[in-house]
Amino acid sequence: MPTLPQRSTELEMPGTLEMSPAGLYCPAGGFHIDPWRAVPRAVITHAHADHARSGCGQYLCLSTGKRVLRERVGGSARIDTLRRGEQVRVGDVDLKLVPSGHILGAAQVCVTHRGVRWVVTGDYKLEADPTCDPFEPVETDVLVTESTFGLPIYRWGDPQDTADAINAWWRDSREAGRTCVLFAYALGKAQRLASMLDPSIGPIYAHGAVMKMVRAYRDSGVRLPPIDQLAPATRRAGGGRAMVIAPPSAAGSRWLKTFGETQVAMASGWMTIRGVRRRRGFDRGFILSDHADFPGLVQAVEASRARRVYVTHGSTASFARFLCERGIEASELSTRFHGEEGSDESDVDQPAADSDSPALPDEQADEEAVEETS
Ligand SMILES: [Zn+2]
Repeated sequence: MPTLPQRSTELEMPGTLEMSPAGLYCPAGGFHIDPWRAVPRAVITHAHADHARSGCGQYLCLSTGKRVLRERVGGSARIDTLRRGEQVRVGDVDLKLVPSGHILGAAQVCVTHRGVRWVVTGDYKLEADPTCDPFEPVETDVLVTESTFGLPIYRWGDPQDTADAINAWWRDSREAGRTCVLFAYALGKAQRLASMLDPSIGPIYAHGAVMKMVRAYRDSGVRLPPIDQLAPATRRAGGGRAMVIAPPSAAGSRWLKTFGETQVAMASGWMTIRGVRRRRGFDRGFILSDHADFPGLVQAVEASRARRVYVTHGSTASFARFLCERGIEASELSTRFHGEEGSDESDVDQPAADSDSPALPDEQADEEAVEETS
């Protein structure tokens, strides 16, 4: 069983947060945060499949994320919500949820126990995103931060430049009579991309897995351009002018061949690595991530003024080392309980950001969604 690194300081009050077989657990509050298996009480940072598992007795999330979480964990699940920044007493701790800017309803979890505050960021980004509330920095004593892109090579440009490049690609493809197929995670990235598209160029269609989450976003009050679900009868309706948004798991599928001439692209932070785009056979790669880039991670850690930092997900070792070199007490935190072979836990490995063949984070979510709707 993984444990929190044994560095007993006055900050690491027994009972605040500890690692359990189901993930991060708060004994003083009696709840898990983003548990890896069904537990009685789960506080959820966001609805991506590797953070929100079905089968828990009770869920607590940010009010803006309830609809998308419902889509993920099922209609009968009990989901309680907190408004942004609203503080509640749970057991012996004070708990509040603060937007993390990652996807709709994504939150940082703030737990205060006997005067010491812990913040668990979940996934986050600092860039503006019209489809979710912006990241809010929170000062804390102990910070548990993600580090998906915690290597200096990961630096994002201005998202508006990316939007312009995608729309220019769409216009050029339209002139050539080729349908654009843009791969993106079905929850979050796909809706953010849709909000960036210029609907005057042509019709926008979405794969069923994407469309399900488009509806959840609209139900939550997010404005998106007109998007139609791609049913068999509408597949050729775009006449080479359409933009189709699909999950990465649909790449190379027979489904794709029904569009005739296409141009295919992927929008992801992993497109920073040219070899990934080439190997996966994309015509274009647009660098766009819902995670913080390296400078964003450093900025968020410094803004937290945390005296102790745990680093989780992605480039944990190198990012923790980088923070230590800057005088911040930081270490890796293994948040993956590697269960029995073939179990849910062992199936969802983290992307190796510094390997030459990174997996794509949250792809698991899309795989599941495709199975449900194809
Ligand atoms: Zn996520």
